Amino acid sequence: MFEVDLSLFVTIGVCTGIAFIVILWVYYDRVGKTIHQEKRDRVIFHCVRCGHLYTDRKGVEEAVCPRCGMDNIKLRF
Ligand SMILES: [Zn+2]
Repeated sequence: MFEVDLSLFVTIGVCTGIAFIVILWVYYDRVGKTIHQEKRDRVIFHCVRCGHLYTDRKGVEEAVCPRCGMDNIKLRF
């Protein structure tokens, strides 16, 4: 059998854990942007006739309500 120093064992374990977390952080940061970017680029509309909330893609200033057909402008916050 070979002996392993306890401090070396703990250091390797901690470094491996930190490296694992950093890899997951970078991976989900990049993948999350591509997956959720389309949802983030949507604009919210509120229908003044029926009160329905709906979304459309970014850059659209007016959109027709899917429920009643009223043309509405986007919400500004
Ligand atoms: Zn409506």
